[in-house]
Amino acid sequence: MSNDKDYNKVSVLVVGAGPAGLATAIQLKIEKPDIDVCVIEKSADLGNHTLSGAVLEAEPLHTLLDSAVPGWPDSDAAKDVLANVVDKDDVMFLLGKKLAFNISFTIEWARAFELGFGYMIHKGDYTVSISKLTKWMGRIAKDLGAEVLTGFAAQDIILDESSETAIGVKLVDQGLDKEGNKQPNFVEGEIINADFVVLAEGCDGLVTEKFVEKANLQRQSPQLYSVGVKELIKVSPEQYNKFTSGRVVHAMGYPIWTPIIGPAMFGGGIVYAGDQDHLSVGMIVGADWKYYDFNVQDALTNFKNHSFINQFIDGGTVVEAGAKMIPEGGYYAIPRDPETASIGKANVMILGDSAGFASMLKIKGLHNAIDSGMQAAKAIAETLAEPEKVAVKYTEMVEQSNIMEEMKLARKIRQTVTNFGPLQGMPLSVFGNLLPKFKVEKDCEAMTIARYRLKPDREFDKDTFTALAATQHREEEPSHLTILDSAICSTKCTPMFNSPCITFCPAGVYETVHDEVLPANPSNCLHCKTCQRKCPFDNIRWSVAEGGGGPRYKKM
Ligand code: SF4
Ligand code: SF4
Repeated sequence: MSNDKDYNKVSVLVVGAGPAGLATAIQLKIEKPDIDVCVIEKSADLGNHTLSGAVLEAEPLHTLLDSAVPGWPDSDAAKDVLANVVDKDDVMFLLGKKLAFNISFTIEWARAFELGFGYMIHKGDYTVSISKLTKWMGRIAKDLGAEVLTGFAAQDIILDESSETAIGVKLVDQGLDKEGNKQPNFVEGEIINADFVVLAEGCDGLVTEKFVEKANLQRQSPQLYSVGVKELIKVSPEQYNKFTSGRVVHAMGYPIWTPIIGPAMFGGGIVYAGDQDHLSVGMIVGADWKYYDFNVQDALTNFKNHSFINQFIDGGTVVEAGAKMIPEGGYYAIPRDPETASIGKANVMILGDSAGFASMLKIKGLHNAIDSGMQAAKAIAETLAEPEKVAVKYTEMVEQSNIMEEMKLARKIRQTVTNFGPLQGMPLSVFGNLLPKFKVEKDCEAMTIARYRLKPDREFDKDTFTALAATQHREEEPSHLTILDSAICSTKCTPMFNSPCITFCPAGVYETVHDEVLPANPSNCLHCKTCQRKCPFDNIRWSVAEGGGGPRYKKM
């Protein structure tokens, strides 16, 4: 590490400076001000790799800030980050390119009877830029005395000989060339030793998944994902005022599922207000789509062109863009130790999206990420002398918290929709836990030779999209994307599915070069990890790039 201070041994090491990891650092500094907490983050600056919906349920953040920052509601940061409070909550059903039906009343009814999607009400929540929220939380953590280090990419977790307890986390090597040769500026990735390791990397975390495998944690059901793409659009003051700053629109139906003639995919579109004259427009699609030529950006294009949406953004300028995955497998996909059922093991805890704490009933997980960070901090504070007991303590606390209440309530939803499709599955899922637990396959197994029949006329401009994500990597570093067996591409996947990674990667990383499919443009990568979970032959591995590489989101 380049820093003068010695970080080779810390008490608490948090991997990932997103809301979950930073909530851990903040809460821990409240509980135990003298403890040394180090948060490492792979992005160049705080908030650069965080992207979300992002409708934030207020309570966990308020609870955290009430203890950490006296008078926080009057601070400039609070007024900026939490400026938009939801006062209008529209759920639309889009039919074809022009028709839109407001079906919010069905959600209200469902709420009255405490059924399924009745929990999808956001009034009183905030619509936030998670990038700005993360920056703010990072400043609070630092002010309280936590070390928050950006540009530090974690590559692996190191366990002791018994594979029971973590010794620490290894950082990625820096200064290799494309072939993996050491350059004069080579720096070997150090191991940061820690008593407690907190894994808060977000969805499909690299170190988390390595830990799940090494420590033999088990999921009752495979993790399922959605892929979200989002644009921040500068619109006219008239359009912004027409939309209003406190409004959230969730849309289902066109262009990802339409009755009878299809397509049939789970997910939907979202529109909400950002800063003055800025609207966020996103499309989220279950990664179990079966169309080999489908790309979530095509669905976003169709969504933006729908008359109902277009009225708010027509003539606007996209100022930022990005992509990410969302963990949707729910309760049954939480990785647990088979012996103790702990979410983690011994001195390692798994938080937020890394654990899969997104609520499918509320279509959000940011509040649970923050809450899990607070629970992790409290668990550490209670097991300071016995770090090997922290995963069990943390799990006890999570089980008693609102997080697990939500996860249990929503535990059948995604599996039901995946089995029956959106048209039958979504109404069925209203019956919630009265339903049986349906078996699901991994997302990568869903690909078929069916085509997405609503392909837009023009190919999506991925170059501009990537430029708007401001993604950067050192051009000479080794590719952090690996195709395991290129023969599978040429003999199976290309003839059957026409190399879908070329289509579905939102950043245009994959190309055919001299008849071979390659991650030809790794420096464009947005770190969304879609390719790792959607390649139909499970033939791609995403690893971490050198610290500081990746997108540079500012207001996503
Ligand atoms: Fe197909 Fe995966 Fe090869 Fe791409 S990497 S061509 S998706 S097998
Ligand atoms: Fe996402 Fe993979 Fe494309 Fe990178 S290469 S942007 S991780 S799909």
